[in-house]
Amino acid sequence: MTKRVLVTGAGGFIGHHLVKYLVDEGYWVRGVDLKYPEYEPSPSDEFELMDLRRFDNCLIATRGIEEVYHLAADMGGIGYITAFHAEIARNSAMINLHMLEAARLNATERFLFSSSACVYPQYLQKSPDVTNLKEEDAYPAEPEEGYGTEKLFMESLCQYYFEDYGFETRAVRFHNVYGPLGTYEGGKEKAPAAICRKVALAPEEGEIEVWGDGEQSRSFMYVDDCVEGIHRIMGSDYPHPLNLGTDELVTINQLVDLVAETAGKQIEKRHDTSKPQGVRGRNSDNSRIQKVLGWKPQMPLREGLKPTYRWIESELRIAGRVPELQQSRLSESTV
Ligand code: NAD
Repeated sequence: MTKRVLVTGAGGFIGHHLVKYLVDEGYWVRGVDLKYPEYEPSPSDEFELMDLRRFDNCLIATRGIEEVYHLAADMGGIGYITAFHAEIARNSAMINLHMLEAARLNATERFLFSSSACVYPQYLQKSPDVTNLKEEDAYPAEPEEGYGTEKLFMESLCQYYFEDYGFETRAVRFHNVYGPLGTYEGGKEKAPAAICRKVALAPEEGEIEVWGDGEQSRSFMYVDDCVEGIHRIMGSDYPHPLNLGTDELVTINQLVDLVAETAGKQIEKRHDTSKPQGVRGRNSDNSRIQKVLGWKPQMPLREGLKPTYRWIESELRIAGRVPELQQSRLSESTV
């Protein structure tokens, strides 16, 4: 029989891609969010607009559901998560506490929590030349204030529900996800989308602003790998936190160069060291996911940036913000 699943945060970036993936896999999908997906309609079987900070709504959202993919959260890029500690931690804590308990009371079979690499201690991320982070490195804890602290607490709560109630929980630590159909401006966008937007709007031999000195390093996972990984982890028997990310480390300066190459433009960088840059360096250690699933994210950054850049450039073009000349260059460089 068709399995009935719930995706919370289904109006958001990863949630919307996940709904598409699960519908294609043959699941019956209910999406819940405060808003509909911004850039295209949701293919979910049902989509309900609800505020999941409220417990009564969480009970309604989880009715008749077998598996919960819980992605709803108050989140954004580094500018956003460093500016609003109280609001982010409070909103996400309310959503998470209520969703986990409602899922248990409604006797759902599994609950997957979308955690983050922001749970890892800041003392291990002070150099761009990183040691890849293993799951057990999360303790002794010193997570990203607000957003990361709340995620780490929620991972523990999932563990307690598993130990005390036998409730099947999964916790997945995403490392920087990018791809088409994600927010690219307004303050909640993350580095790859922001850089694609700036490069798309820049002239052929232009200059863009880069936050920090650009030597901070990260790995970036394409959204198709992310949703496949989420689905595989849900189906696994592994109840402890797992990294989900690539281990292809780049600096932000290298990321800018890759986007410029994708766009076929010569781009100079203007560094603004007054802007937040997050931890100095972070990468994912994928030994555990490889052992548990025999799989890890595949998409090279250079390849994943092509559809991402193309989509953001086309959005800006539709809005009349990219000059004609640049459009022809783009199609030559990316076909
Ligand atoms: P997103 O902001 O695009 O999606 C989150 C969705 O949650 C939004 O659509 C938002 O409207 C919804 N939401 C917020 N408050 C709500 C509420 N009170 N009730 C109902 N819905 C509410 O973010 P995303 O990038 O798709 O992230 C999804 C999950 O993955 C989040 O839990 C996030 O913390 C986690 N994560 C994402 C990344 C990344 O790089 N994108 C990295 C690490 C972790």
